[in-house]
Amino acid sequence: MKEIAIYIHIPFCDHKCIYCDFYSITKTDNVGPFLNALKLEILNSREHLIESEITSIFFGGGTPSLLSSQNISRIINVFYSNFNISKNIEITLETNPGTVKLEKLKEFKNIGINRLSIGVQSFDDRELKFLTRIHDKDLAIETIKNGSKAGFENINLDLIFNLPKQTREIWELNLKTALELPITHISAYSLILERGTILNKLILDKKVKMNEDDFDATLYETTIEYLSKNKFNQYEVSNFCVEGFECAHNLAYWQHKNYLGFGPSAHSFYENKRWWNFSGVKQYINKIEENGNAICSDEILSADQLLDEFVMLALRSNGLGLETLEKKFGSNWYIKNKTYINELKKNKYIIERENFIKFTSKGYLLCDEILLQFK
Ligand code: SF4
Repeated sequence: MKEIAIYIHIPFCDHKCIYCDFYSITKTDNVGPFLNALKLEILNSREHLIESEITSIFFGGGTPSLLSSQNISRIINVFYSNFNISKNIEITLETNPGTVKLEKLKEFKNIGINRLSIGVQSFDDRELKFLTRIHDKDLAIETIKNGSKAGFENINLDLIFNLPKQTREIWELNLKTALELPITHISAYSLILERGTILNKLILDKKVKMNEDDFDATLYETTIEYLSKNKFNQYEVSNFCVEGFECAHNLAYWQHKNYLGFGPSAHSFYENKRWWNFSGVKQYINKIEENGNAICSDEILSADQLLDEFVMLALRSNGLGLETLEKKFGSNWYIKNKTYINELKKNKYIIERENFIKFTSKGYLLCDEILLQFK
């Protein structure tokens, strides 16, 4: 049976953060019709789900923890009642400090959520204020501790580095604070300026100044060094975890496995086809009611595109298995790139061991540049 990962986009947020370009809205008057549409969309994906085993469900957003545990449970039950679920399924719920109390976290645990991903972003109150987050450091710490008290043994924190005026010391203190808490996983992303965000406008209007380009690399290097010293292994460009706590859902993306996304703006990938939904909640609901799906557009990937993506995703995460590559695509890629691979090995950017190529820490630092050089 084929493995499949499920992503559910819950588009509701308490407010809009200045840097965010994810699709989210602050009005919650459409929750009921949205949930009905979501259920219909899932049931209408029977052809992709019926012969698959669901290995992960990821509730992202938006802020999924704004929904009641009963509503999240109803969505999970649509899968349990109709499709095959792996007995080791990982079910992640994204949550934000300030939107959940201990009791609600316990309810989420009781309905089968077994992984929390908490949008902390920073433990520095000045930075949190700048990001227009609704929480402060104390609330972030309380939410993480409550997650642990509620019984979650697998907790991820999202953190952002390279914020304006951030020093290396502030960023190190963020990492240190995170590691003193009961967590197993850190996703650390550099602040990205996205078009259309309030932050982008502030930068264009010269009201906020970003750090110099190379400071980003300094902070990234600090992240890799600091976390690896503290037994958080890097298993993707931006992801670090205690051994055994790699995110199964993200690994499915990075291993180019099939996944289905439900909800506004969600993306899906199945064999050689990718498609994505309309973004607006109302449009999403209308399309589902009219057509049974809310597909905005799709694309078929050629064999070369599939190969490029497979290599790129594998190398950005925990390595490229040469036997798997050969079984799926033949041996041409390795032969074509052998001279370059040897050069990378000599310069200690990658290691090759037991038919496996993997970036070193030094390689992760330059991974985008390196990936561009492969033929
Ligand atoms: S809480 Fe998250 S999804 Fe919502 S606006 Fe802020 S960054 Fe975006």
